[in-house]
Amino acid sequence: MSKSVLNQPQFHDEEAAYAYVEARIWPRGPVCPHCGGVERNRKMEGKSTRIGVYKCYDCRQPFTVKLNTIFESSHIELRLWLQAIFLIASSKKGVSSNQLHRTLGITLKSAWFMSHRIREAMKDGGLDVFGSGGGAVEIDETFIGHDHTKKPKGQKKGRGFEHKNKVFSLIDRTTRKARSVVVDNLKASTLRPIMMANIAREAYVMTDEAAQYTNRYSNLGRFFANHGVVRHAAKGYVNFNDSNVHSNTIEGFFSIFKRGMKGVYQHCAHNHLNRYLAEFDFRYNNRIALGVDDQQRAETLLKGVKGKRLTYRTIGQ
Ligand SMILES: [Zn+2]
Repeated sequence: MSKSVLNQPQFHDEEAAYAYVEARIWPRGPVCPHCGGVERNRKMEGKSTRIGVYKCYDCRQPFTVKLNTIFESSHIELRLWLQAIFLIASSKKGVSSNQLHRTLGITLKSAWFMSHRIREAMKDGGLDVFGSGGGAVEIDETFIGHDHTKKPKGQKKGRGFEHKNKVFSLIDRTTRKARSVVVDNLKASTLRPIMMANIAREAYVMTDEAAQYTNRYSNLGRFFANHGVVRHAAKGYVNFNDSNVHSNTIEGFFSIFKRGMKGVYQHCAHNHLNRYLAEFDFRYNNRIALGVDDQQRAETLLKGVKGKRLTYRTIGQ
């Protein structure tokens, strides 16, 4: 018998799919999402009952494991959701909505909706700070596509990147993890609150020589224990006084992100970009090089489905 992951029952059988998700979302047994009750939940049996329905005898309301997750009020079978999660978690560069539409046999609209909900589940909430214990944190920004919420082209323009989407990223060089956010502009007053919320005061922060990091008032040396400046103008991207000061890690991250966005997703609307970033952060933070295999990555993704109905961004807001 083949050991193919795709032979696992949760991908084919709806009851097995529910059992699989329940075991992960309710490791200690069902929890009523209405009142939080854990004692008097009974599984509804009987031929006319839908799969996975429980009733809470504290508040007398029915519920399933899908409530208060990305699966809530979706008409797509749970086993197809699990297939989509596995496909997205195990692919190195992402899966387009078109591909999901063809592989799962669902409409393009459903596939699009599904993949955005799954990206939402990839957001980690960003609770831990980077650079704790004085570790190095690389900071940089990049531009991708056009921000259609800004003035159309042809009007008065500043520098070339004015109408592009702006992405601001941090990488903790010790844990080798990334965190990214869409920003409206690159002013120090926009970036500093994000840095203050996500980086430890004792960190060694590495940036390029851009004014928002180095000028008199926004100099990061005032806010963090150490600030190393990389001279892009010089040959290479290192500071020759200290070879530890470089931005090679974050340059590498941006190149994966850009190749992925161009190759798989082609273009994306400004208001969805934060979810694509969550996907690239997630994939980078759960990569093979950090010892995470496909199955573990899918499991981590599945743990993130809880409480993710709304689309909001916790970082930097
Ligand atoms: Zn209840």
